[in-house]
Amino acid sequence: MADLVVRGDTEDIAIEEGKIVAIGPDLPGAVAEIDARGLHVFPGLIDVHLHFNEPGRTEWEGAATGSRALAAGGGTLFFDMPLNSTPCTVNAEAFDRKRAALAESSITDFALWGGLIPGNVPEMAELADRGVVGFKAFLCDSGLPEFPRADDQTLLDGLREAARLELPVAVHAESQELTQGDRSSVKAFLASRPAIAELEAIQRATLLAREAGAKLHIVHVSTGRGVALAAEARAQGVDVSIETCPHYLFFTEDDVERLGAIAKCAPPLRNAVEQDALWTHLLAGSVDIVASDHSPAPPGMKSGDFAQAWGGIAGVQSTLPVLLDRGHHCRKLSLERIGALLSGEPARRFRISGKGRIAVGMEADLALVDVFRSVQLRPEHLLQRHRLNNPYLGSTFRGCVMRTIRRGETIFASGEITTRSGGKFVRPNLCNI
Ligand SMILES: [Zn+2]
Repeated sequence: MADLVVRGDTEDIAIEEGKIVAIGPDLPGAVAEIDARGLHVFPGLIDVHLHFNEPGRTEWEGAATGSRALAAGGGTLFFDMPLNSTPCTVNAEAFDRKRAALAESSITDFALWGGLIPGNVPEMAELADRGVVGFKAFLCDSGLPEFPRADDQTLLDGLREAARLELPVAVHAESQELTQGDRSSVKAFLASRPAIAELEAIQRATLLAREAGAKLHIVHVSTGRGVALAAEARAQGVDVSIETCPHYLFFTEDDVERLGAIAKCAPPLRNAVEQDALWTHLLAGSVDIVASDHSPAPPGMKSGDFAQAWGGIAGVQSTLPVLLDRGHHCRKLSLERIGALLSGEPARRFRISGKGRIAVGMEADLALVDVFRSVQLRPEHLLQRHRLNNPYLGSTFRGCVMRTIRRGETIFASGEITTRSGGKFVRPNLCNI
């Protein structure tokens, strides 16, 4: 007898020891049963881009609160960026400290990005041994002095080393030189990070990746033109994957004027024309992955003077609601494609075996979603550390996560976290290409 059977409208899913053992209509009874009729079952979300800032800056978020918020949004696995923890994940010792800290505090499974900064190329092999999913580099200032941007030589050397290690390099694609304008007001800030800064950096990164024969992942592409440029490079043979974030699909630059520092991020939110183009490319299939880039900070760093405020949007819980409301209901984006953008492609691109699909033999990571349930987001729904630091508050979404199951165990249901057990460390399976 199975441990658990999830009863759906047309098919049931049977689970034993955390894995899916059968899928089909009218499966036999199990020790426990969950009624998912009327709900859509997605594979658990894999958020490939977020910042829980642990260890060292847990007062900004931390994996204890962050992973609970992820679970409330249907997530079962995250990839933590190498910053803004202290130390940044740029060598094996820092990796070990972060892995130990997340093993203590995360309720979802987790994987780690390594960093690529000037001087640490010799550390990359050891980071790969430890199990990083890839290496993150900034082409402009990161905002943290301890994580300097990769100059072109560092990026090229890092791409070559990553190619040897069979791992991707992820780039924050904005030109340093083209993002130096006045930032003293909201309008000036938006103008100081123009679309061309993104385009120039994408072009340079794809050129260097081609030269190095490396896999490239472009994080948080904010414009349709950026997606088109990267897709063009892919058509010419560059191994590049394209990520965007829910905030670029939901907010525009007018919202930055309205919301202030809570909606400040880099690249910045764009105008409605750029946003429409981004949706067009996403609907056409050119975007591979949508990730939250959840990057919170304490309230004091997100209020007051806009110019001084920390850049980063805290929205880890809202990725699926944004894609359901603005994508599925408003633009006919299929539920299957949403599952691919949020789970299937992340697992495939970063070679996370056993996750990303609902199939026999896979780990039972599931998000049970009422696609039609309309909810206005209120502070009490949010499980992130600083609940008022969230630009989506007050927005209404059609689409609500009812239950999240991580390896067969319900970790979130009816608005509450229901587990005391922790997540496990996950590494890419480099043997299984
Ligand atoms: Zn980020």
